[in-house]
Amino acid sequence: MGTTVYLDNNATTAIDPEVLDAMQPFFTEKYGNPSSIHRFGGHVKRYVENAREQVASLIGASPDEVFFTSCGSESDNMALKGFAEVHGSKTTIVTSAVEHAAVLSTAKYLKGNGVSVVELGVDSEGMIDTSVFESLSITPDTLVSLMWANNETGVIFPIAKIAAEVKARGGYMHTDAVQAVGKVPIDVQKDMVDILALSGHKLHAPKGVGAIYIKKGTMLAPLLHGGHQEQGVRAGTENVPYIVGLGKACELAAKHIQEENTKVRKLRDKLEHALLEKCIGAKLNGRIDARLPNTTNISFEFIEGEAILLHLDESGIAASSGSACTTGSLEPSHVMRAMSIPYTFAHSSTRFSLSRFTTEAEIDKVIAVMPGIVDKLRKISPYVNR
Ligand code: PLP
Repeated sequence: MGTTVYLDNNATTAIDPEVLDAMQPFFTEKYGNPSSIHRFGGHVKRYVENAREQVASLIGASPDEVFFTSCGSESDNMALKGFAEVHGSKTTIVTSAVEHAAVLSTAKYLKGNGVSVVELGVDSEGMIDTSVFESLSITPDTLVSLMWANNETGVIFPIAKIAAEVKARGGYMHTDAVQAVGKVPIDVQKDMVDILALSGHKLHAPKGVGAIYIKKGTMLAPLLHGGHQEQGVRAGTENVPYIVGLGKACELAAKHIQEENTKVRKLRDKLEHALLEKCIGAKLNGRIDARLPNTTNISFEFIEGEAILLHLDESGIAASSGSACTTGSLEPSHVMRAMSIPYTFAHSSTRFSLSRFTTEAEIDKVIAVMPGIVDKLRKISPYVNR
């Protein structure tokens, strides 16, 4: 394909070769159904339970509080819809304007069905104002659903602090931790979270597998009805190879979490400092001191993000833009809009997201090509030449 530098790890990650190795036997000789009584089934069931322990261990949960799903979106859907179904017309969902569509669209769907939804704003650095919770009504029918870390900016919300407030007032705390798990330490017990969503493909496991943590005693109605798999919480024969892959990826994430915060952070900072210094009109989006170690989001004034991405792609570099083409025009993302990023900057928001497989040579390549791309695009920018 020609892409040699992959800096779009918040979109998806490469499968770790060790994860692939762990999965392989479950496509061939270990093909039993974990629910079967015979040895084929019993044999693979042990591996599913081992994976559950690996996932639980990464987030400080007990294995019987972890349930496998098909993706992060399913886990988020289950959290919100499952809660609303149990709490009925009394339900209130408190969320933020910068959540992933998996939460925002689910909240919108529930609102259309009569559920009360409160959407909190963020400041220009993408941070939530925790003081708003003091004036919010929180009852045992309130689910506060806030992401641990934002997929576009990497900004980390103070989930433990918010959860403590929510719990003290009898409410429930859900966090979409899809971008955070494996990158920053999480302990659901210490952090007082009731429900947490995670996804395999953001942490070097395959796409199509995720998990939901549900604290013991938290009632959620299932999305899928059927067999008794996953303690009846999520029907459907378990996707054993992918579950094994997710388990292995969580074990490896725990092993490498320090590296995320040293090696990966250092490379991210090198990239960020260089781009802010060398590219004219560059500005960082997001709170600098509360961010994922792998993510930087930078705007380059007067330039279209999509144009930057195409030029980067020509140089074999994959990144991501905060703007998406809607109805023929480029609109800044809902995250940039919620942060009130000025129009001339919001259009060029470019996200670089690293992983533990990113090398210094790759970062140096981006630093070498980016100033030229920015200069070239600014010269032809309709905004500048108008
Ligand atoms: N939540 C966040 C913050 C995400 O970044 C994503 C994926 O980009 C999701 C949820 C959805 O996860 P999945 O792709 O596994 O459905």
